[in-house]
Amino acid sequence: MENKKVALVTGGSRGIGKACAIELAKAGCDVIINYAGNEEAANKTVEELKVLGSNSKAMKFDVSNQELVEAAIKEIMDKYKRIDVLVNNAGITRDGLFMRMSAQNWLDVINTNLNSAYFVTNPVSKIMIKQRSGAIVNMASISGIYGNAGQANYSTAKAGLIGFTKALAKELASRNIRVNAVAPGFIQTDMTKDLPQEQIVDKIPLKRLGEPEDIAKTVKFLALDTTYITGQVIGVDGGLVI
Ligand code: NAP
Repeated sequence: MENKKVALVTGGSRGIGKACAIELAKAGCDVIINYAGNEEAANKTVEELKVLGSNSKAMKFDVSNQELVEAAIKEIMDKYKRIDVLVNNAGITRDGLFMRMSAQNWLDVINTNLNSAYFVTNPVSKIMIKQRSGAIVNMASISGIYGNAGQANYSTAKAGLIGFTKALAKELASRNIRVNAVAPGFIQTDMTKDLPQEQIVDKIPLKRLGEPEDIAKTVKFLALDTTYITGQVIGVDGGLVI
């Protein structure tokens, strides 16, 4: 038990984050999941993680609030003493054509999807530097690679995460910390449930939406299995180019 790795998955209560948490727990990690407000989903996920032998805990905090994030990281360190894996996964969409996009919808998406990466990774990277080991996986999107109409805010945030991944990988490599990103295509979660699925599937070469587990397996590979990949963005998108 002493040597178990400790993982923090932001937005780990539902969807892709939940699948990542489960995959990391199956691989033997103690997984802390973060969530914004849906306590029922978070508690259910923690129960599932505990069944897998993970000493798990759900923590409610807004990843876009620096003060709350720092308090949460401190609480994690008090209890778990280390953080080996960080998955920056929490994210939201506020889609709409740019001409009609409110400043609030722009700021909410940038704060939750991009500025959160600073707020969470800054204290966690200091911990990993002291440990001289760690792996960080950022949840980007194909929208951040190709750009997506109706998602100027989201595409901007995800493109920013990709730049962040590449820069931080170079800064932290000498400390034995790897930083990578996964860029999902369309994945079956609450975030995509109201989209026109048939039209989307038509454009996907593999002819299906992805499952959260498709992303989670790649995250687990980057976080735990490989030791020589850093600064990369892995597309997990069924071959889709938007
Ligand atoms: P989801 O099902 O909507 O789940 C979002 C998760 O993020 C929930 O756990 C939610 O907590 C949490 N969250 C949202 N805002 C937060 C905040 N301010 N602070 C802390 N936690 C917050 O989303 P998903 O589809 O799994 O997406 C996960 C990530 O993958 C996102 O970064 C998304 O942009 C990215 N992605 C998704 C797709 C896709 O097709 N689904 C494609 C590309 C990229 P609550 O449960 O408390 O609300």
